[in-house]
Amino acid sequence: MNISVIGTGYVGLITAITFAKKGHKVICVDISAERVDAINHAKPPFFEPGLDEYLRDLVGAHSLWATSNTEEAVNNSDMTFICVGTPHLPDGSQDLTYVTKCAKDIGAALKTKDGYHLVVVKSTVEPGTTKLTVLPLLCEAAGKEEGKEFSCAHNPEFLREGTALADSFNPDRIIMGVLDDSSRELLLDLYSNFECPKLVVDTNTSEMIKYASNAFLATKISFANEMANICQKLGVDVAEMFKGVTMDHRINPHFFNAGCGFGGSCFPKDISALIHVAKNQGVQTPLMNSVMSVNDVQPLKCLELAKTSGELSGKSVAVLGLAFKPGTDDVRETRALPLIQALLKEGAKVTGYDPQAIENFKKLLPEASVEYTDDAYVAITGKDIAFVQCDWNEIRLLEPKKIKELMKTPVVIDGRRTFDPKIMEGHGITYKAIGLGK
Ligand code: NAD
Repeated sequence: MNISVIGTGYVGLITAITFAKKGHKVICVDISAERVDAINHAKPPFFEPGLDEYLRDLVGAHSLWATSNTEEAVNNSDMTFICVGTPHLPDGSQDLTYVTKCAKDIGAALKTKDGYHLVVVKSTVEPGTTKLTVLPLLCEAAGKEEGKEFSCAHNPEFLREGTALADSFNPDRIIMGVLDDSSRELLLDLYSNFECPKLVVDTNTSEMIKYASNAFLATKISFANEMANICQKLGVDVAEMFKGVTMDHRINPHFFNAGCGFGGSCFPKDISALIHVAKNQGVQTPLMNSVMSVNDVQPLKCLELAKTSGELSGKSVAVLGLAFKPGTDDVRETRALPLIQALLKEGAKVTGYDPQAIENFKKLLPEASVEYTDDAYVAITGKDIAFVQCDWNEIRLLEPKKIKELMKTPVVIDGRRTFDPKIMEGHGITYKAIGLGK
């Protein structure tokens, strides 16, 4: 098939690569001329492991190329995926600016296009958006009725940054939200060579599946964190405790990693949007509200642990990991931000380390006097305390012997349970971690 993908961020570009690798011709569209140019020169516009090699192969083989012209992309494809951002507004609701602009542009292109075209919303959107917002905008701009000449569907994305390509090639499941039989057949055909369970539902259900999935995962993290905070006071190691809990076949062991909380471009905004959706329907969400409030205080637990060894004012500290998780340069809602803001407020001198995300992070704190380095050993040299915010391999593989030698006072506060406490203590390092119980 010929496929166009609008938006070349973490979801759009990975989706485009996946379809191109499966043998389709893919045209990417982005309003950013810089991104279009980067893709056409096979240069990844953001960091994701493996992205550079795939881009080189697919752009070189003319299976994938980019343009900023939506009309050209729609006219030269059979279906268009909308993969633009859906950030949240101050009241928690979704900001549909990018999606509505896309829908209008695609509709305008469909006006003169011959032949059937399917428009698929891949962006995470509030239930009802595909049917009640995107579809009417398409119809109006195209001057056509939905059904014979075009249709609209929703196909949520579940990839995780850092393992995005593997997730996209081998998804756990594919959800297809459709409005009619033609879109159902076309999507089933497109995904016929993906080996995973597939579920076809209506668009509202599909949109809600994405929100509920993220809400559940975030709930698991906040649950683990609340248990960790209790365990900490009781002298119980939360990791050991969860080993026992997850021996129950009803409790899946993934995602119970206690630490300094979740960030990223999805969980915080999707839960805020879900709370807003519920409020509009007159439904209260005490559980979701608590998931967010547990998450808000979690980075500050690292400070509490550090303060058990003395005040932070005047201390030199390193914050290891600025991205919201390993394997990405994405800093949206990273826990490094509230952590560093709190450290600066306490009067600490902060050096931030990350192998990929420094430039993006600097934009979040342009005025602050934070030093940066992309060498973790340089970051910890002469420091009183090292805080681990993100468990990159580059951090996980730091040698305890060198940590002890290089730091002024070897105190490590681990927000991700990156290190083995026994090994750290065996090297004379004062090691504290959320939920370690000591
Ligand atoms: P992103 O912000 O990284 O990328 C969006 C891209 O769309 C940008 O490159 C922007 O320039 C482009 N764009 C905006 N308006 C455009 C327009 N009118 N025409 C062409 N290009 C346009 O976003 P993302 O992280 O890839 O997320 C996209 C959607 O997927 C969101 O709804 C998000 O919630 C969802 N999602 C994201 C992830 C993730 O891990 N990032 C995972 C699953 C789902």
